[in-house]
Amino acid sequence: MVRIEGLRKRFGEVEVLKGIDLTVKKGEAISVIGPSGSGKSTMLRCINYLESPDGGSIRIDGQLLGHEERGGRRVPMKASRLNALRAEMGMVFQHFNLWPHMTVLQNLIEAPMRVRGRAKAEAVATARELLRKVGLSDKEGEYPLRLSGGQQQRVAIARALAMDPKIMLFDEVTSALDPELVGEVLQLMQQLAGGGMTMIVVTHEMDFARQVCDRVVFMDKGQIVEAGPPDVVFRRPADPRTNQFLSRVLHRLGDAGA
Ligand code: ADP
Ligand code: MG
Repeated sequence: MVRIEGLRKRFGEVEVLKGIDLTVKKGEAISVIGPSGSGKSTMLRCINYLESPDGGSIRIDGQLLGHEERGGRRVPMKASRLNALRAEMGMVFQHFNLWPHMTVLQNLIEAPMRVRGRAKAEAVATARELLRKVGLSDKEGEYPLRLSGGQQQRVAIARALAMDPKIMLFDEVTSALDPELVGEVLQLMQQLAGGGMTMIVVTHEMDFARQVCDRVVFMDKGQIVEAGPPDVVFRRPADPRTNQFLSRVLHRLGDAGA
């Protein structure tokens, strides 16, 4: 579903992604962990083309992102095709980014109508179905800022799902939440993973990475240091950097009584 080869990205002098290779199969849920500044968000933003890569390639469901191959040559992709490809990916951020001047329902129907060309009745029906799924049927007429952080984040996930994406990208979606609201969002993501959604989840929630995801990817300084099944990465990390990172974060969780 996603094939990344040799992905490079630099900001000025600093090379932030130094050749990333990663393949995500259809239906797989992958977590990406690693220290702050290691390039996790930049990788997600490249996959969603919020940033344009400096090197390497990204394929979404077989289609090269950002470029087309014509007669063996690479030419920039037409904006309309690029946008269509980007619409296959739903992204949810740490901060909810809901449109504050629109109700929950309007937040969910806007892009499907505008980008996908859905009729209003159809968009509304889908939105209501999704709100039921995320447990917020009674909030459709509410404005986002009147909801709790956890509810806002569930709306943000429903809004991404309303576009019927093939892949969901999550960037630390629980990091800004009060601790007691984290569980409801993780539970929804677990439900999605269980339903077969292809997901790339950047997270500090080690229990989620361990229990819900099919594979864990550990990044450090712009590289993937190791990737594998959670049991292997968490119990017998192959690289000392993984070990060091894990003992640091797991120790801190232990101190917090988690
Ligand atoms: P992570 O998500 O793992 O914390 P990021 O991908 O956000 O890491 O950042 C990786 C590095 O790239 C950091 O050193 C960060 O300061 C830098 N960086 C990220 N975005 C930009 C940007 N738009 N301009 C300049 N530097 C950036
Ligand atoms: Mg980040």
